[in-house]
Amino acid sequence: MNDYIKDSKDNLVDFYSRTPIVPVRGRDHWVWDVNGRKYLDLMSGIAVTSFGHSNKKIARAVKKQLDTLQHMSNLFILKDQAMLSKMIQDKAFKGKCFFCNSGAEANESALKMARIWGNAKKSGKNRVLALHNSFHGRTIATITLTGQDKYRKGFDPLLPAVDYVELNNTADLEAKFNSDVCAIFLEAVQAEGGILPLSHDFVAKIRELALKHNSLVIFDEVQCGIGRTGKYFGYQHFNIEPDIITMAKALGNGFPIGAALVKDHVADIMKPGMHASTFGGNLLATAAAMAALSQLDMKMLSHINSVSSTFKKALEAYSAANPGIITGVRAAGLLIGIDLDASISVADVISGMTARGILVIRAGTNVLRLVPPFTVTAREVDIFMKAFTETVEALKKVNTVKGGVK
Ligand SMILES: *Cc1c(COP(=O)(O)O)cnc(C)c1O
Repeated sequence: MNDYIKDSKDNLVDFYSRTPIVPVRGRDHWVWDVNGRKYLDLMSGIAVTSFGHSNKKIARAVKKQLDTLQHMSNLFILKDQAMLSKMIQDKAFKGKCFFCNSGAEANESALKMARIWGNAKKSGKNRVLALHNSFHGRTIATITLTGQDKYRKGFDPLLPAVDYVELNNTADLEAKFNSDVCAIFLEAVQAEGGILPLSHDFVAKIRELALKHNSLVIFDEVQCGIGRTGKYFGYQHFNIEPDIITMAKALGNGFPIGAALVKDHVADIMKPGMHASTFGGNLLATAAAMAALSQLDMKMLSHINSVSSTFKKALEAYSAANPGIITGVRAAGLLIGIDLDASISVADVISGMTARGILVIRAGTNVLRLVPPFTVTAREVDIFMKAFTETVEALKKVNTVKGGVK
């Protein structure tokens, strides 16, 4: 076990603070480490394995493709890509897909298409708006779109002509929106940012200004999409239809694939050679994504919403009985944010939960984030609540958590 930890320190660039657990096997929402210890996974590889670990249907589809044809270039017609595009359109809107390999690449492609589209409309129509506290990926272009300094520090110079609007501040939006804006990037719920949803008023104002100034509305559905928030896509919580949505994470349930779904009025001005990706929409990834999406239906959405409300009720009941620990709960389907009081550190809670065999992550500044596979049930809510209660009680004994012994 120690060897794995040392080996990874010695041989991998230190971009992650890695939890010293070595997972080797998974099934649904359970994961086993190299020592045979079992964990309840409430983070899904950060919103990726939504359809459960080792999903059988996906495994079967990828194995079949592996034995048939592993790779051919996008310079040929890869016959399943159009079918996958239609499956995505069926859950969103009519348009055309560009396939790539990750969320950042999907956003990068959306940005490139928005610039091509805007520059063709009028000279200088290439400004882009994004929101403060957003997250859109880790390439130079997508950290520029990401309105959080911690992801951008040290990487200057970033992209020009990007401006940031405060979340849900319609006055700030109006001040920064003009006819030079080619596109605005949004997340239905800022996920990395702390599980913060757009307000209906703000979205209404975006729709109005985008119409007035002829600008594209782009929803980054990389985390919110594919059922995560209890709708097929996060934008469907609002009265708006975007021009472009981007997705990745759960689309292949862990097999790398990203996509941008683009309305025809934008897609139809793209020309061969403007953009490309060697692996984008490759046969294996497409097979995985079709098998994943074929499992996402209204029944699954209703299960997601039902477990979501079980989580929310349990957390609110805990909060009422134990004042001073949880200061807010926001649940959008199975994307759940638990605001912790300043006296309790999310890092300590995560360590305590991990020690009790439950994998969770953070978001924002002091928010505990739950992003479980859609296979979880009310039973896993109980397991979580029990471990959370124990974790908080243990922390009270050793530090300054309210109600605890100093
Ligand atoms: C994870 C994420 C991305 C980046 O996706 P990668 O696949 O890591 O490049 C972009 N946007 C949002 C909203 C995300 O959650």
